[in-house]
Amino acid sequence: MSFKTITTQCSVCKKVELLQVDEELYDDYLHGQCSVQHVFKNLTPAQREFHFISKICGKCWDELFLEDDEDLSWHNNKLYYNRFINK
Ligand SMILES: [Zn+2]
Repeated sequence: MSFKTITTQCSVCKKVELLQVDEELYDDYLHGQCSVQHVFKNLTPAQREFHFISKICGKCWDELFLEDDEDLSWHNNKLYYNRFINK
């Protein structure tokens, strides 16, 4: 299995993070054969959002969308986030 290293810069804080993914899966994703959720199901939601969808890192996400209950931050804030980017 070969890996590809993806470099993503956070669009908010400009921090750069690297992620290694399976190259074959990445090709599938690039060619639109699978949704990112399906192709990269081993990644955390935060990783998928950051590297493939929002380009906002987990830390900035929390700062932008933090709610009272921090434990729920990722999944619950997703709805707020979608509203945000679809503007
Ligand atoms: Zn950031």
